[in-house]
Amino acid sequence: MDSEDRVVLVTGAGSGMGKESARQFATTGAAVACVDIDQHAVTETKREIQSGDSDAIAIEADVSESADVREMIERTVSAFGGLDVLHNNAGIPQRATPVEDVSEDTWDRLVDINLKSAFLGTKYAVSHLRERNGVILNTASTAAIRPRTGLSAYVASKGGMVALTKQLAKELAPDVRVNAICPVATETPMLEEFSGEDLRVSDMESTIPMEQLATPEDVAAAAVFLASDEADMITGTALEVDGGRDI
Ligand code: NAD
Repeated sequence: MDSEDRVVLVTGAGSGMGKESARQFATTGAAVACVDIDQHAVTETKREIQSGDSDAIAIEADVSESADVREMIERTVSAFGGLDVLHNNAGIPQRATPVEDVSEDTWDRLVDINLKSAFLGTKYAVSHLRERNGVILNTASTAAIRPRTGLSAYVASKGGMVALTKQLAKELAPDVRVNAICPVATETPMLEEFSGEDLRVSDMESTIPMEQLATPEDVAAAAVFLASDEADMITGTALEVDGGRDI
Protein backbone atom coordinates (compact mmCIF):
# COMPACT_ATOMS: atom_id res chain seq x y z
CA MET A 1 0.00 0.00 0.00
CA ASP A 2 1.45 3.33 -0.98
CA SER A 3 0.67 6.14 1.45
CA GLU A 4 3.32 8.52 0.21
CA ASP A 5 2.48 12.12 1.05
CA ARG A 6 -0.24 11.09 3.47
CA VAL A 7 -0.41 12.35 7.02
CA VAL A 8 -1.47 9.80 9.64
CA LEU A 9 -2.17 10.38 13.33
CA VAL A 10 -2.10 7.32 15.58
CA THR A 11 -3.12 7.45 19.25
CA GLY A 12 -1.67 4.99 21.72
CA ALA A 13 1.46 4.97 19.55
CA GLY A 14 3.75 4.40 22.51
CA SER A 15 3.05 0.66 22.74
CA GLY A 16 1.51 -2.43 21.20
CA MET A 17 -0.74 -2.06 18.20
CA GLY A 18 -0.54 1.73 18.03
CA LYS A 19 3.24 1.61 17.88
CA GLU A 20 3.13 -0.99 15.12
CA SER A 21 0.45 0.94 13.22
CA ALA A 22 2.64 4.07 13.34
CA ARG A 23 5.62 2.02 12.09
CA GLN A 24 3.71 0.36 9.24
CA PHE A 25 2.17 3.62 8.04
CA ALA A 26 5.65 5.15 8.09
CA THR A 27 7.01 2.34 5.91
CA THR A 28 4.35 3.17 3.31
CA GLY A 29 5.81 6.67 3.12
CA ALA A 30 3.33 8.51 5.33
CA ALA A 31 4.30 11.24 7.78
CA VAL A 32 3.13 10.06 11.19
CA ALA A 33 2.01 11.96 14.28
CA CYS A 34 2.56 9.57 17.19
CA VAL A 35 0.33 10.38 20.16
CA ASP A 36 0.36 8.86 23.63
CA ILE A 37 -0.15 9.82 27.26
CA ASP A 38 3.28 8.28 27.91
CA GLN A 39 5.71 10.87 26.61
CA HIS A 40 8.79 8.71 26.98
CA ALA A 41 7.26 5.80 25.06
CA VAL A 42 5.92 7.91 22.22
CA THR A 43 9.21 9.76 21.82
CA GLU A 44 10.88 6.38 21.42
CA THR A 45 8.36 5.42 18.69
CA LYS A 46 9.08 8.68 16.88
CA ARG A 47 12.84 8.08 17.16
CA GLU A 48 12.52 4.58 15.68
CA ILE A 49 10.45 5.87 12.77
CA GLN A 50 12.85 8.72 12.06
CA SER A 51 15.82 6.35 12.14
CA GLY A 52 14.07 4.52 9.27
CA ASP A 53 14.11 7.86 7.43
CA SER A 54 10.41 8.64 7.70
CA ASP A 55 8.88 11.83 8.99
CA ALA A 56 7.34 11.69 12.47
CA ILE A 57 6.45 13.84 15.44
CA ALA A 58 5.67 12.79 19.00
CA ILE A 59 2.78 14.39 20.89
CA GLU A 60 1.98 13.79 24.53
CA ALA A 61 -1.80 13.88 24.99
CA ASP A 62 -4.57 12.33 27.04
CA VAL A 63 -7.17 11.27 24.47
CA SER A 64 -10.00 11.62 26.98
CA GLU A 65 -9.26 15.36 27.43
CA SER A 66 -10.89 17.68 24.96
CA ALA A 67 -8.13 20.32 25.04
CA ASP A 68 -5.42 17.70 24.49
CA VAL A 69 -7.26 16.17 21.54
CA ARG A 70 -7.86 19.53 19.90
CA GLU A 71 -4.18 20.37 20.33
CA MET A 72 -2.93 17.05 18.95
CA ILE A 73 -4.92 17.64 15.76
CA GLU A 74 -3.76 21.26 15.45
CA ARG A 75 -0.12 20.35 16.01
CA THR A 76 -0.30 17.59 13.40
CA VAL A 77 -1.90 19.84 10.80
CA SER A 78 0.56 22.63 11.45
CA ALA A 79 3.55 20.22 11.28
CA PHE A 80 2.51 18.38 8.11
CA GLY A 81 -0.03 20.66 6.40
CA GLY A 82 -3.14 18.49 6.78
CA LEU A 83 -4.51 15.15 7.95
CA ASP A 84 -5.46 12.08 5.91
CA VAL A 85 -5.89 9.32 8.49
CA LEU A 86 -6.98 9.51 12.12
CA HIS A 87 -6.39 6.20 13.91
CA ASN A 88 -8.18 6.25 17.26
CA ASN A 89 -6.34 3.36 18.88
CA ALA A 90 -5.45 4.29 22.47
CA GLY A 91 -7.36 2.31 25.05
CA ILE A 92 -7.22 0.75 28.47
CA PRO A 93 -8.30 -2.70 29.70
CA GLN A 94 -10.59 -3.68 32.55
CA ARG A 95 -9.82 -6.26 35.22
CA ALA A 96 -12.66 -8.79 35.13
CA THR A 97 -15.06 -7.65 37.88
CA PRO A 98 -18.71 -8.53 38.64
CA VAL A 99 -20.87 -5.63 37.50
CA GLU A 100 -22.07 -4.84 41.01
CA ASP A 101 -18.47 -4.24 42.07
CA VAL A 102 -17.52 -1.95 39.17
CA SER A 103 -17.09 1.58 40.52
CA GLU A 104 -18.53 4.56 38.71
CA ASP A 105 -14.99 5.93 38.43
CA THR A 106 -13.86 2.79 36.63
CA TRP A 107 -16.85 2.95 34.30
CA ASP A 108 -16.30 6.64 33.49
CA ARG A 109 -12.56 6.18 32.91
CA LEU A 110 -13.04 3.23 30.55
CA VAL A 111 -15.75 4.98 28.57
CA ASP A 112 -13.87 8.29 28.43
CA ILE A 113 -10.58 6.79 27.23
CA ASN A 114 -11.95 4.03 25.00
CA LEU A 115 -15.01 5.72 23.48
CA LYS A 116 -15.28 9.46 24.12
CA SER A 117 -11.76 9.73 22.68
CA ALA A 118 -13.04 8.63 19.26
CA PHE A 119 -15.81 11.23 19.39
CA LEU A 120 -13.36 13.98 20.40
CA GLY A 121 -10.82 12.98 17.76
CA THR A 122 -13.50 12.99 15.07
CA LYS A 123 -14.98 16.28 16.26
CA TYR A 124 -11.68 18.13 15.95
CA ALA A 125 -10.28 16.30 12.91
CA VAL A 126 -13.29 16.09 10.64
CA SER A 127 -12.90 19.44 8.89
CA HIS A 128 -9.29 18.53 7.98
CA LEU A 129 -10.24 14.99 6.92
CA ARG A 130 -13.02 16.30 4.66
CA GLU A 131 -10.52 18.44 2.79
CA ARG A 132 -8.54 15.33 1.79
CA ASN A 133 -11.18 12.58 1.56
CA GLY A 134 -9.65 11.16 4.70
CA VAL A 135 -10.19 8.04 6.75
CA ILE A 136 -11.01 7.36 10.40
CA LEU A 137 -9.96 4.04 11.95
CA ASN A 138 -11.22 3.02 15.37
CA THR A 139 -9.57 0.15 17.25
CA ALA A 140 -12.47 -1.62 18.96
CA SER A 141 -12.31 -5.30 19.98
CA THR A 142 -13.97 -8.64 19.37
CA ALA A 143 -15.34 -8.02 22.88
CA ALA A 144 -17.70 -5.53 21.22
CA ILE A 145 -19.31 -8.34 19.25
CA ARG A 146 -18.85 -11.32 21.60
CA PRO A 147 -19.01 -9.91 25.14
CA ARG A 148 -16.97 -11.46 27.94
CA THR A 149 -18.08 -11.95 31.54
CA GLY A 150 -16.76 -9.37 33.97
CA LEU A 151 -15.87 -6.76 31.37
CA SER A 152 -19.04 -4.63 31.43
CA ALA A 153 -17.36 -1.24 31.04
CA TYR A 154 -14.78 -2.42 28.50
CA VAL A 155 -17.38 -4.22 26.38
CA ALA A 156 -19.75 -1.24 26.50
CA SER A 157 -16.95 1.14 25.49
CA LYS A 158 -15.91 -1.03 22.54
CA GLY A 159 -19.50 -1.77 21.52
CA GLY A 160 -20.07 1.97 21.54
CA MET A 161 -17.05 2.42 19.32
CA VAL A 162 -18.43 0.00 16.73
CA ALA A 163 -21.83 1.73 16.82
CA LEU A 164 -20.17 5.16 16.53
CA THR A 165 -18.14 3.88 13.56
CA LYS A 166 -21.27 2.77 11.71
CA GLN A 167 -23.07 6.01 12.52
CA LEU A 168 -20.17 8.23 11.44
CA ALA A 169 -19.69 6.23 8.24
CA LYS A 170 -23.18 7.33 7.19
CA GLU A 171 -22.89 10.87 8.46
CA LEU A 172 -19.52 11.59 6.88
CA ALA A 173 -19.95 9.78 3.53
CA PRO A 174 -18.98 10.35 0.82
CA ASP A 175 -16.19 12.62 2.09
CA VAL A 176 -14.67 10.53 4.87
CA ARG A 177 -14.60 6.74 5.34
CA VAL A 178 -14.90 5.35 8.86
CA ASN A 179 -14.07 1.76 9.86
CA ALA A 180 -13.43 -0.16 13.06
CA ILE A 181 -10.93 -2.94 13.64
CA CYS A 182 -11.85 -5.66 16.11
CA PRO A 183 -8.78 -7.60 17.25
CA VAL A 184 -8.99 -10.81 19.22
CA ALA A 185 -6.51 -11.27 22.10
CA THR A 186 -3.29 -9.75 20.77
CA GLU A 187 0.30 -10.06 21.98
CA THR A 188 0.81 -6.63 23.56
CA PRO A 189 1.53 -5.39 27.09
CA MET A 190 -2.23 -4.94 27.58
CA LEU A 191 -2.85 -8.67 27.29
CA GLU A 192 -1.15 -9.21 30.65
CA GLU A 193 -3.80 -7.05 32.27
CA PHE A 194 -6.63 -8.99 30.67
CA SER A 195 -5.19 -12.32 31.62
CA GLY A 196 -5.13 -13.39 35.22
CA GLU A 197 -5.93 -16.35 37.37
CA ASP A 198 -9.25 -16.84 35.63
CA LEU A 199 -8.07 -16.23 32.08
CA ARG A 200 -4.83 -17.72 30.80
CA VAL A 201 -3.24 -17.05 27.42
CA SER A 202 -3.17 -20.78 26.64
CA ASP A 203 -6.95 -20.91 27.20
CA MET A 204 -7.44 -17.97 24.86
CA GLU A 205 -5.34 -19.61 22.16
CA SER A 206 -7.32 -22.82 22.32
CA THR A 207 -10.52 -20.94 21.40
CA ILE A 208 -9.00 -19.46 18.23
CA PRO A 209 -9.28 -21.74 15.15
CA MET A 210 -6.00 -20.35 13.77
CA GLU A 211 -4.44 -21.62 17.05
CA GLN A 212 -2.55 -18.42 17.78
CA LEU A 213 -3.09 -15.00 19.24
CA ALA A 214 -3.11 -12.00 16.93
CA THR A 215 0.06 -9.93 16.71
CA PRO A 216 0.37 -6.14 16.49
CA GLU A 217 1.63 -6.70 12.92
CA ASP A 218 -1.63 -8.50 11.97
CA VAL A 219 -3.74 -5.66 13.32
CA ALA A 220 -1.60 -2.85 11.87
CA ALA A 221 -1.73 -4.51 8.44
CA ALA A 222 -5.53 -4.38 8.62
CA ALA A 223 -5.31 -0.68 9.51
CA VAL A 224 -3.03 0.11 6.59
CA PHE A 225 -5.36 -1.76 4.22
CA LEU A 226 -8.52 -0.03 5.49
CA ALA A 227 -6.83 3.37 5.10
CA SER A 228 -5.67 2.64 1.55
CA ASP A 229 -7.33 3.52 -1.75
CA GLU A 230 -7.80 -0.22 -2.33
CA ALA A 231 -10.45 -0.04 0.42
CA ASP A 232 -12.29 2.92 -1.07
CA MET A 233 -15.69 1.14 -1.06
CA ILE A 234 -15.29 -0.07 2.53
CA THR A 235 -16.91 2.13 5.15
CA GLY A 236 -18.94 1.43 8.29
CA THR A 237 -17.43 -2.01 8.75
CA ALA A 238 -16.00 -3.61 11.88
CA LEU A 239 -13.21 -5.82 10.56
CA GLU A 240 -12.51 -8.75 12.86
CA VAL A 241 -8.86 -9.75 13.08
CA ASP A 242 -9.66 -12.81 15.13
CA GLY A 243 -8.26 -15.99 13.58
CA GLY A 244 -11.81 -17.23 13.04
CA ARG A 245 -12.85 -17.11 16.70
CA ASP A 246 -16.63 -17.11 16.97
CA ILE A 247 -17.25 -17.67 20.66
P1 NAD B 1 -1.04 -1.25 24.98
O1 NAD B 1 -1.31 -1.13 26.43
O2 NAD B 1 0.15 -1.98 24.51
O3 NAD B 1 -1.01 0.22 24.33
C1 NAD B 1 -1.99 1.18 24.64
C2 NAD B 1 -1.34 2.55 24.56
O4 NAD B 1 -2.37 3.53 24.81
C3 NAD B 1 -0.24 2.76 25.63
O5 NAD B 1 0.93 3.27 25.03
C4 NAD B 1 -0.86 3.76 26.57
O6 NAD B 1 0.08 4.64 27.19
C5 NAD B 1 -1.81 4.53 25.66
N1 NAD B 1 -2.88 5.21 26.41
C6 NAD B 1 -3.60 4.72 27.44
N2 NAD B 1 -4.43 5.66 27.90
C7 NAD B 1 -4.23 6.76 27.14
C8 NAD B 1 -4.79 8.06 27.15
N3 NAD B 1 -5.74 8.43 28.03
N4 NAD B 1 -4.36 8.96 26.21
C9 NAD B 1 -3.40 8.62 25.33
N5 NAD B 1 -2.82 7.41 25.29
C10 NAD B 1 -3.24 6.48 26.18
O7 NAD B 1 -2.38 -1.87 24.37
P2 NAD B 1 -2.73 -2.52 22.95
O8 NAD B 1 -3.03 -3.94 23.21
O9 NAD B 1 -1.81 -2.14 21.90
O10 NAD B 1 -4.15 -1.82 22.74
C11 NAD B 1 -4.43 -0.95 21.64
C12 NAD B 1 -5.93 -0.94 21.44
O11 NAD B 1 -6.37 -2.25 21.08
C13 NAD B 1 -6.74 -0.57 22.69
O12 NAD B 1 -7.80 0.29 22.31
C14 NAD B 1 -7.26 -1.90 23.18
O13 NAD B 1 -8.46 -1.77 23.92
C15 NAD B 1 -7.46 -2.64 21.89
N6 NAD B 1 -7.49 -4.10 21.96
C16 NAD B 1 -6.46 -4.79 22.58
C17 NAD B 1 -6.50 -6.19 22.59
C18 NAD B 1 -5.38 -7.02 23.19
O14 NAD B 1 -5.58 -8.20 23.44
N7 NAD B 1 -4.20 -6.46 23.42
C19 NAD B 1 -7.57 -6.86 21.98
C20 NAD B 1 -8.58 -6.13 21.38
C21 NAD B 1 -8.52 -4.75 21.36
